[in-house]
Parts: sequence; structure tokens; C-alpha cells
Amino acid sequence: MSVAPSDEELNSAAIILRSAHPSLGIGKLLAQLKLDNPEWSISEKRFKRFLPRPSSSSSEKGQGDGEVNGGGSGSGSSNVTEVNQKDGGLIAQTGIDTFLDIKQIAPKVKVKMFKDGKGKGLVVREKLQMGEMIWQEDPWIATNDISLTQYLTSREMCSQCLTLFPQPNPPLSVPCTFCGEAQFCNRLCYSKAVKGSSGHHDLLCPGQNKEVKSILKLIQSKQNRDLQAVIKIIAKWRGEREWGSSSARKEIEDRIWNSMARVNQRTKEEERREWPFIAKDRLEEWRLTHLLILNVLNPSPSDDNYKPFQRLLQSKKSRLIPLTKEEEERWFSFESFLELLGLVGLNQESSGGLYALHSHLNHSCDPNVQVRNLPKGWTPPTTLPAELPPPMTAQNRGTNKLTIIAKKTIHPGDELLVSYVDQRLDYSERRERLREQYGFYCHCTRCKKEQVEYSKSKA
Ligand SMILES: [Zn+2]
Ligand SMILES: [Zn+2]
Ligand SMILES: [Zn+2]
Repeated sequence: MSVAPSDEELNSAAIILRSAHPSLGIGKLLAQLKLDNPEWSISEKRFKRFLPRPSSSSSEKGQGDGEVNGGGSGSGSSNVTEVNQKDGGLIAQTGIDTFLDIKQIAPKVKVKMFKDGKGKGLVVREKLQMGEMIWQEDPWIATNDISLTQYLTSREMCSQCLTLFPQPNPPLSVPCTFCGEAQFCNRLCYSKAVKGSSGHHDLLCPGQNKEVKSILKLIQSKQNRDLQAVIKIIAKWRGEREWGSSSARKEIEDRIWNSMARVNQRTKEEERREWPFIAKDRLEEWRLTHLLILNVLNPSPSDDNYKPFQRLLQSKKSRLIPLTKEEEERWFSFESFLELLGLVGLNQESSGGLYALHSHLNHSCDPNVQVRNLPKGWTPPTTLPAELPPPMTAQNRGTNKLTIIAKKTIHPGDELLVSYVDQRLDYSERRERLREQYGFYCHCTRCKKEQVEYSKSKA
């Protein structure tokens, strides 16, 4: 259902977009406009008529000479680093993940708490060489690229590890016994999805909780992967709380509310220049989404889904204990929803999913590690130093297991750094994106150098 926006609507949207992205080209701005207004149908020609010219000083600079990140997933994301309040940076809360056995996952790495509001990061214990695999990690919460949903619904892809089944003769896959829709490589992937990463949690299986369909539709129409992750986190907690062990429940609580970098989504968006124009719609959208989540994962006695949901909970445990006031507040209040949304925005890996150790990595525009989604059969190099793995192709897609690889020699005491944004972006674009998405201004060596050139070009 697409509608053509009025001249007036388009005019104000174009002005806001231009002021927020002074240096972006029309293609990217149009893409952003369509993201913000998915129901609008609009041609580039018409958009161009309303789009103010970029200010001459900050016009298109091309893709810069930044390093190309090997076509892999590239940027990761993590706790806010180099926060500078003088710049108006947002402070995210972050702490140590006491449930994570880092020594076991990545023997050459340790956590360090940095002073000056930077939060935690990972530093190296032993020298690493170029091409060396530092660790591999499955998602703690798996989400899929919305564009892959077509493969999931046509049963051509594993709902857990996102491996595409070879065509035209796919191997025997294992279907979800309740909905029959989700397919898995094998029983191991199935059990990981149900118990581990929430790839296909019982509470989010349409065969078990029918109301889920409304929220899946919303995620699809909004193309919103952050929302997908939020729902999976809550389902995972609720599942452990009702049916699981108390240690598994505590692990989720600790990771979410104590360890992962977290900022309230509203606080984050209030910083945006266009906030006054979008605030009303945003808040309304969040409120509606929040109500949908409640209906799916914590319906009240007056909701239609109340009884079916109670039956679902009782199907795996006979005696139910109602949520405490604190639990209601912590997991199902509107403010908590906004905090979860903000947390996912800071921590979700660019190819999808939340990863417990990966989310410790801080940002640099000149990173020393690469984060990759490699194909199932990949094995680490036997001699070092080694070339970095080649870029993936459509036929040779990687799974959602992350592989962290050293891009160069890294010495003991050095911090491991990834780039949260596309390294090909120029200084002002990177600066803007990092500020908007992650709430900080970057002061890495590359930024310092390019800032001087940038100010010269503006002078
Ligand atoms: Zn199912
Ligand atoms: Zn699989
Ligand atoms: Zn930088």
C-alpha cells in the first residue's frame, strides 16, 4: 500500500534530511527517505526537485581512500567508546560480563576496564600475527537479515545458522514440529534455535503462540532487525524464567542490565536534529510496538491472548508463578522496551545477532581486527602470517558464526579494535554516523589526521 506524499510533506522531509546529512548524495538520501517512510512511493526525479543543494564546502567527496573491509560483515558494534561529553556524547552504561569465560573462548585476549568513561574493551595477552584467528563465536541472540526472510519462509534456509540449503536437491532438513514452517539443517541446529539463541524460540513459534504473527509482520514491514532482536531477548528471558534454570535466567539478566552497553532509545534519538519533527510519530510507533510485544509475551487478563498464553506456559510446567512487580517493570515497561531497543542498536552485529564477547570490541576507523561471517567449511590457516580470507560471494555465503581475525601484527597490551561503520566513508560521514548510531565522536588517529584536512577544505 504505497501513497504519494504531498508536496508539503516531501518538502519538509527533504529539508530535514538535507540538514541532517549535508554531504550525502541523492541516492543515499532517497534510500534514507524510503526507510523513514516505507509507505511513500516517490521517484528520484520528484525528490530532486525538493532537495536543497548541499552546502558547497561539504559536498560529495567520493568514497575517500579508506580501506575496504574485505567484503565481510565488516563493522561490529559494541560499548560506546571514547565518549566525550564536551562534544555532547552519550554515556552508555556498561560493565563486566561475569558469566563469560573469556579465557576459554579467546585464550590470547583479556578484558580491560578503561578510565575516562570509555568503558570496557579487549586487549591482547600474547602477540597475534596477521591472518590469525583470535576466536569464533555463535550468536547469543540470532537475528536474520530481513532480506533473507524470503528464504526462511520458502524453507530454503536453516532458521538457526542461516545456511542456505543447496538447490535443486536440498538435503533432508528438520522442520519445527509445531509450525512446520521453520526448517533446520539438523537436530542440533533445531535445539540451538529453541534453547540457545532464540533463533526459533517456543514463545515466538507461530505454531505455539499465534499472536506472534502480528509482530513478525510488523518487523517485516518496517524492515526492523533491532526490533527482532528485542523480542528475541525478552522471549529468551521469559522462557528461562518460566521453564528454565535460575542460573540461565540470571545470566540473561546480568548480560542485559549490567554488562552490555545500554542507552535509552529516546535519549539517543532526542539528540538527532530532526527529532522535533519526528518525535510524535516515533513515540506513537514505539507505544504501539510495545503493546504488540506485551500481547505476545505478557498478555494481561483482558487480552484475547491471555488464556492461550497461559496454556502455552502450562504446557511445559504445571505450576505457574505470576511475575513480580519488579519483573514486570524490568522487562515489560515502556521504558525498559526503549532501553532494550537502545541496547540492541549499540550492540547488534552488522550482519545480525548479538554476540557476548564480540560486543566487548571498541571502535576505530583504522581497525586491527576483521569480523567475518565465513562459510561452514572454513578452517584457520596453519601457517602465520597469512592472507585474510577472501570476500564471500552469493553462492558462498557465510553462516552467522563470527570469526575474529587479526588484520596485522598485534602486540601484547594493544587493544583489539573493529570499525562500526563502513571504513570507505569519509571523515564527516563517519563522524555523523558514529554520533547518530553509537552516540560518540571518534578521536582515533585516522580521524585526527582527517579532521585537519577536513577543516582545511572547509576554510
Ligand atoms: Zn515453529
Ligand atoms: Zn543450521
Ligand atoms: Zn575514527
